[in-house]
Amino acid sequence: MKIITEQHIIKTTGNCDIVDITENVRYNLLTHKLKHGNANVFVVGSTASISTIEYEPGLKKDLPEILEKFIPSNKRYHHDDTWGDHNGHSHLRSTLFGCSQTVPFVNGELLLGTWQQIILIDFDERPRTRKVIVQLIGE
Ligand code: ZN
Repeated sequence: MKIITEQHIIKTTGNCDIVDITENVRYNLLTHKLKHGNANVFVVGSTASISTIEYEPGLKKDLPEILEKFIPSNKRYHHDDTWGDHNGHSHLRSTLFGCSQTVPFVNGELLLGTWQQIILIDFDERPRTRKVIVQLIGE
């Protein structure tokens, strides 16, 4: 069994920017020619998340809209008092979505649904450059 760790540097616009990173993960899998195992996808940082979605224009609007209702960006949070910054909502959204996803692969193919893409969501209130780690564990 092999453990291979790769990384991608991805620029975002922040503010719930949703970036499809499925091809980044697929590229790593093809490069290393692993057949069976798991791909763990992890974003470094406490104001971003890794999830999956059907990556289409409607849901790219729906997700930020529903988050604005549950965790509004214009509310004051205790975190903002701690550091004097204004991204309490970004941290809370990141914690709820989580910072990683594990996708199994078989015969060199990610076992994603046809309409299921792996996404990086940047919840911070400004553009960021994110480091996404892809760790392949398999043979
Ligand atoms: Zn903060």
